[in-house]
Amino acid sequence: MASPGRFNTIHCDLHCPLCNAKILTGIGFRIGSLENKQYKIGDKINWSQQPTRPEKRPANGNVITLGHFNCDNPRCSSWQDCYPNIQNAKITIKEDKIVDIAICTGVDQEDFAILEPQQ
Ligand SMILES: [Zn+2]
Repeated sequence: MASPGRFNTIHCDLHCPLCNAKILTGIGFRIGSLENKQYKIGDKINWSQQPTRPEKRPANGNVITLGHFNCDNPRCSSWQDCYPNIQNAKITIKEDKIVDIAICTGVDQEDFAILEPQQ
């Protein structure tokens, strides 16, 4: 991944927007306790263990953040030489619960940006 340190992963039925392959690697994101935890849609984010990101759980537990994933199909156009470009997904968390994942194309952030609440 682009950023050092620990992150969490969401596994869900996503298809690469470029080649339509099923993405097996999961989407890395950095919200809640950073403990390499595996989540799926509908799960509640754990905030009980330090360190967390952001440092304090936002009011109502509502967060929108960017997560990042790689397509694992070597024939995908995201692959450059021997490693794929990182792609972005917008993750919506409501009342600590992961409610939505949307692939975003045309965004070149690779820093697990928190879109809401604004910092
Ligand atoms: Zn692909």
